Amino acid sequence: MNQDNQTNNFETFAIRTQSQRSHFDEHSTPLYLTSSFVFEDAEDMRASFAEEKEKNLYSRYSNPNTNEFIEKIVKMEGAEAGYAFATGMASIYSTFMALLNSGDHVLSCQSVFGATHALFTKYFPKWNIDYTYFKAENSADVESLIQPNTKILYLETPTNPAIEILDLEFYGNLAKKHNLIFIVDNCFATPYLQQPIKYGADVVVHSATKLIDGQGRVLGGVAVGRKDLIQEIYSFSRLTGPSLSPFNAWILSKSLETLAVRVEKHCENALKVAECLDSHPNVEFVKYPFLKSHPSYEIAKKQMKLGGNIVAFEIKGGIEGGRNFLNKIKMASLSANLGDTRTIVTHPASTTHSKLSDEERNEVGITAGLVRCSVGLENVEDIIYDLKQALD
Ligand SMILES: *Cc1c(COP(=O)(O)O)cnc(C)c1O
Repeated sequence: MNQDNQTNNFETFAIRTQSQRSHFDEHSTPLYLTSSFVFEDAEDMRASFAEEKEKNLYSRYSNPNTNEFIEKIVKMEGAEAGYAFATGMASIYSTFMALLNSGDHVLSCQSVFGATHALFTKYFPKWNIDYTYFKAENSADVESLIQPNTKILYLETPTNPAIEILDLEFYGNLAKKHNLIFIVDNCFATPYLQQPIKYGADVVVHSATKLIDGQGRVLGGVAVGRKDLIQEIYSFSRLTGPSLSPFNAWILSKSLETLAVRVEKHCENALKVAECLDSHPNVEFVKYPFLKSHPSYEIAKKQMKLGGNIVAFEIKGGIEGGRNFLNKIKMASLSANLGDTRTIVTHPASTTHSKLSDEERNEVGITAGLVRCSVGLENVEDIIYDLKQALD
């Protein structure tokens, strides 16, 4: 690995971190579609299985394509080690399973990804793992919720879909003071905009399906962080098999080569969209981290390089207002993904969060007319035109 580069500049190592060239002298990393690897002799095989050698054995454990992808994310996040997963949820699930024991307690922000919420509420009780939620805006109360058996402090920032910002420095210090493992889902920001490890995160998880792929093609996930914790996550995962396929790793590693330019442009477009929606008469409010009207604007400025590509806004007219808006959209896609080159709009109250009561929805900041827009890379004038004509 790292044939050419000694630099710490993000764009350069995103491109120049590469698995070792084969004897074909290829320029771009080839795809290693192989389920297993061969050994010189009995001793080579023994030592490799005993983990005395760093060698690929079997692609459930490691593979040159997944290694390259992991190495880039490790560097981008400033981590010590990592492991790549088939999906973002596999990375979250496996991280919890590897680090928690029966009887442990997790303290988590309430505004987490829907499937993560289901993991806490539906499956944790089955394994006698307890959890407590705190609200994104109530950081002052969080310390009082720590219990003697609390092991993990977990959060996402910005949150999905309400775009709340949590203060990484504050939570990093809190976790350190109480000796908790601090885990951050950094999916919405990507390591280009925000590096939670700088603020004390012990493990950072990602859904690589979103901005890391960036083109809506493949699913993937990754967990990076402290070496001792990643070793536990690795041991659990190499047994249970949630590993990323080499094909998807190959795609995702190449996607990382353009992460900086893509995210830069996504954010530029999103800010323009947010500013434009902010002044529209049919919009109640806009939530975007880099709009001055965002309640946590100062924190966003402190910990994020730019505001990200997700803009949330409240349409007048509640649930029906939101549904009407989606029906009027012409160019943007109605789809569950986000972080794609294509602009995507969703209306959480009538779709992903339709099973919740009004009260439960409000708890996580999802109001009836809230629309989540994942701003893409089309010409921004066309994106704004589409959203505006649907609002009018
Ligand atoms: C999409 C998403 C996930 C889950 O990722 P998958 O790749 O779909 O499994 C987890 N966290 C956040 C914040 C997400 O947006």
